[in-house]
Amino acid sequence: MAGDVCGHVVWTAELPVGRGGWCCWRPVAAGRERCRWHATGALDDYASALDQSDDRLDDAVLRGEDLDSLPIDGCSLARADLAGATLSTTVESGCLRGADLSDATLDHADLSGADLRDATLAGATLLHADLSAARLRHADLSGADLRFAAASAPSLVRADLTDANASGADLSDATLLSARLEAATFRRTDLSGGNLRRADAVAADLGSADVRGADLYEADLRDADLRGADLSGANLRHAHLSGADLSDADLTDATLEGADLRGATLERAEFVRTNLFDADLSRAVLYGGVFADVKVNRGTVLDAPRPTGADDDPLDELVWTNRTIERLSRENALVEQARTAYVRRKDLRRRQHRRQGNYARWAGSAVAGAVMGYGERPLRVVAVSAAVVFAAALLYPGPLSEAAYASLASFVTPLPDPSLGTTGRWLSAMEALTGALLTAVLVFVFGRRSTG
Ligand SMILES: [Zn+2]
Repeated sequence: MAGDVCGHVVWTAELPVGRGGWCCWRPVAAGRERCRWHATGALDDYASALDQSDDRLDDAVLRGEDLDSLPIDGCSLARADLAGATLSTTVESGCLRGADLSDATLDHADLSGADLRDATLAGATLLHADLSAARLRHADLSGADLRFAAASAPSLVRADLTDANASGADLSDATLLSARLEAATFRRTDLSGGNLRRADAVAADLGSADVRGADLYEADLRDADLRGADLSGANLRHAHLSGADLSDADLTDATLEGADLRGATLERAEFVRTNLFDADLSRAVLYGGVFADVKVNRGTVLDAPRPTGADDDPLDELVWTNRTIERLSRENALVEQARTAYVRRKDLRRRQHRRQGNYARWAGSAVAGAVMGYGERPLRVVAVSAAVVFAAALLYPGPLSEAAYASLASFVTPLPDPSLGTTGRWLSAMEALTGALLTAVLVFVFGRRSTG
């Protein structure tokens, strides 16, 4: 009597792992080909049709139903179609705790204050759903579509939102502590005031998201897309942001203490009163960023990317970056770091001269760099002086010890020794001139360093 039973088959392959397929043996509903759960179209009195509280309601069609009074406690609702269903009251009584709503359609559903702890909502569609103050601790929302969901202050502790899309959703004041957000999409999502401490958001898309005042302590945002995100006042202490794209992001009053920003893109990002203590910004792209009252300390690593030597090196950007690092370092009394950035900038200028075919300036720059490290390296002047004395000693006649003395004497005194031959006197005079010049350079370098 196959016509009397529903016969709807739920295949194992269509169910979450661990659940076996089954065939529905419920009697068909009057005038329908399926039972009241699997037939499309509204039917009344679902409550009395429920055999037991742990019933299998997989694939159930409950579109637009008011499920508030339905005791679906512990029911399996995998792949159930709950589009437009209202679940607000049911769920307050804990009905959906641990429920299986994978691939369910919950568009516009009212799940406010719902207890969805440990529930499976993998692949579920929750477009415009109301999840405000919903309890979703440990819930599986991987691949779920939460676009434009109103979900202020939900508890998503340790929830799994891998590959989920919550673009345009209101997740303000959400608790996403230790949540899994890998490759999730939060474009233009309101995450302001949220708790995302230790959240795993590797390669997540937070483009133009509102993350104001959020707590992202130790959050893993490696390779995340944070372009245009508003992170003002956010706590990003010890956050992992290596390889992340923070172009045009607003980091006003944000704390990035101890954050890992290696290789991050920070183009045109705003750093106003930003705390960068002990942050690692090595190889970070800072071009066009706004830096005002930025706090930098000795532990802050500000290391511009190096030119590769290729023709398409962005020399202008690198010059800008090194000048910014120089300024930030000087403002925060980090003299040695400022000097390194200055020397790098001068090296880049030299490359620019060569690229522009300005060989006279290139040569001048090369000599200044080699002899005195562009006025920053007095020891280099001393080393060059020693090299001149030694090289000249090899040209003087006589044994090496006498030649060395003659060379040193010529270097420090302007008067040539008359006992030297014609060649020797010329050599001596040239060396005296070089010595005078190098001494002047040494005085200049020391003077420059002492003034700043
Ligand atoms: Zn059925």
